[in-house]
Amino acid sequence: MTLTVHQFACLSDNYGFLVRDEASGKTATIDTPDATAVLAELKALGWGLDMILNTHWHPDHAGGNAEVKAATGAVIVAPAEVTKIAPIDREVHGGDIVQLGETSFQVIESGGHTLGHISYFDPADRIAFVGDTLFALGCGRMFEGDPQQFWTSLQRLAALPEDTTVYCAHEYTASNARFALSVDDAPALKKRAEEVFAARERGEWTVPTTIGLEKATNPFLRAPQLAGAVGAAGKPDYEAFAAVRSAKDNFKG
Ligand code: ZN
Ligand code: FE
Repeated sequence: MTLTVHQFACLSDNYGFLVRDEASGKTATIDTPDATAVLAELKALGWGLDMILNTHWHPDHAGGNAEVKAATGAVIVAPAEVTKIAPIDREVHGGDIVQLGETSFQVIESGGHTLGHISYFDPADRIAFVGDTLFALGCGRMFEGDPQQFWTSLQRLAALPEDTTVYCAHEYTASNARFALSVDDAPALKKRAEEVFAARERGEWTVPTTIGLEKATNPFLRAPQLAGAVGAAGKPDYEAFAAVRSAKDNFKG
């Protein structure tokens, strides 16, 4: 199967993603960060819209649902928590399959940033949409979940094939890299950080990334290896993750 992904920047640092199952022509938007931008991108592409796939309830992810649905008739597929801000059409949970034409998305429970956050993984194309759970060299802030839940969610994503293309919902990579360098001196990280800073100087995007690259350089996925650097030596992995998360929250880089 082939899934085409059209990525665009919107709001201050969000990415929007429109996808099309080439076998059927069916399309979806991953979240609705900005209804005006989503509708403008659809128009430029000449695409209709069949589905809205939400990752979590935050307004920069689901805030455009009503307007995009009204304009396109798209069906809203979302975790239950999205009903806090707007109605949905189909509630999904970890382990569910969402079919877009011939493309099957596996729903992966990814709570931690919000309690009900989910990711969407297309195994045939090895493409994952991870919302605000995993970022390039970072992870989302732990607003609602606890370290054990968030760490388990990150491990589910880390278990995907290494060549999985990972679409994160924000361009936070340069500031994530500055923090990562403060807790990790791995050569692979130094090399990547230099590439990230240079890319951002040129105004280029650093998303998408891959699972393999994140496993090698992301300080949150590397929390067990960095436990000593963040004062969590000998602690369980999720506590090392919690220590990295709080070091990032307090980092003044
Ligand atoms: Zn969020
Ligand atoms: Fe967000």
